[in-house]
Amino acid sequence: MTGSMTGHCLCGAVTLSALSHAGTVSACHCSMCRRWSGAAMWVLEAPVGAVEVAGPVERYRSSSFAERAWCGACGTQLWIKDDDGPYELMPGLFDDARDLSLSHEIYVDQAFVSVTLSGGHRRMTQAEYEAAERHVGGEK
Ligand SMILES: [Zn+2]
Ligand SMILES: [Zn+2]
Repeated sequence: MTGSMTGHCLCGAVTLSALSHAGTVSACHCSMCRRWSGAAMWVLEAPVGAVEVAGPVERYRSSSFAERAWCGACGTQLWIKDDDGPYELMPGLFDDARDLSLSHEIYVDQAFVSVTLSGGHRRMTQAEYEAAERHVGGEK
């Protein structure tokens, strides 16, 4: 865990501070993340105790064990979070996230052709990911 960053949504009503974070971002191409984020979703993990949030946050239970949150005023996506897991913050909220590299991407076999990420990062297919992690299969 590294760094300390502050960020905000598009309209500025929601402000966030990540007092520490993973230092790298990851990407997900699963059907839920594609649908929620437009094509793929990038996240930056930060421990629950390291994140401070203020403003009109709205939440949606996207599975039995996770929520997705957004700004109630402008709709900017804020995070996805397992009930017992860290925040997975949208990197775009933080200007300083521009310098963070991509650690891995998951559900690569589900990725849109238009979203092909170059580089030497780790890539996991749906089968590889779901063999190791809790997940929700298929559409909601
Ligand atoms: Zn907003
Ligand atoms: Zn996903």
